[in-house]
Amino acid sequence: MSPPELHGLAAVEQEIARACKDARRERSSVTLIAVSKTFEADAIRPVLAAGQRVFGENRVQEAKAKWPPLLAEHPGTALHLIGPLQSNKAKEAVALFDAIHSVDRESLCEALGKVLPASGRSVELFVQINTGEEPQKAGVAPQDADAFIAACRDRWGLAIAGLMCIPPVDEAPAPHFALTAKIAKRNGLTKLSMGMSADFATAIEFGATHVRVGSAIFGHR
Ligand SMILES: *Cc1c(COP(=O)(O)O)cnc(C)c1O
Repeated sequence: MSPPELHGLAAVEQEIARACKDARRERSSVTLIAVSKTFEADAIRPVLAAGQRVFGENRVQEAKAKWPPLLAEHPGTALHLIGPLQSNKAKEAVALFDAIHSVDRESLCEALGKVLPASGRSVELFVQINTGEEPQKAGVAPQDADAFIAACRDRWGLAIAGLMCIPPVDEAPAPHFALTAKIAKRNGLTKLSMGMSADFATAIEFGATHVRVGSAIFGHR
C-alpha cells in the first residue's frame, strides 16, 4: 500500500488540472504549495519522493528544526513561509525560505529591507491582504493596500511579487479572491497566493498562481 499522502497529492493534482482546464489556463501557471506544517519528516518524505518540490510552513522555528535534512536529501526544493513573521525572525526566515507570503506591517518591511540585501538571497514577497477585515487576522486592510505596496517599493526597496489572502472561514471565498485579484491588477502585481484545501479550485478560477494545500494532501492536523 502506498502512503496516504500520495493519494492526497494525486487527487489534488487531478483537481488542479481540471480547474486549470475549466479556466482555460495552463497547468504550469499554478504552483502547488504542499503545506506540511505540524507534519513530521516521515510524512513529508513520500511527497518529496513523488516529485513535489514546493512546500509551505507557517512557523520559522518548526521549519528550521524539520527541513535542513530534507532539503539536503532533495536539492531544488523550495520552502514558502505562509504564516505570520515577527520582525526579529526576519533574518532567519530569509536564510531558509524562498518566499514569504505574510508581509503585512511596516516594522516587518523595515526588517526585511535590511536583512534581504545583506543575505544575498532572492526571496519572493507577497503582501497579505485582510480581505474580510477581520480584527483577529493578519494582513493589510484592502483600502490601505495600494499605499502599503507603494511604500514597500519606495521606502524599503522591497520588490513585491504578489498578494496573498485567507478568506473568512464562514464566508464564500470567491468575492475575497476577486478583491485580491483586483488589488493586484491595479498595482501591477502578477502573483496571487490564494486557495486552500477547501477552495483551491475556486481560487484558480479567480487567477490564483499559488495554491496552499495542506490537509487535502497530508490529512487532518
Ligand atoms: C494551514 C494553512 C494552509 C493550508 O490549509 P488546509 O486547509 O490544510 O489546506 C494554507 N494557508 C495558510 C496561511 C495556512 O496557515
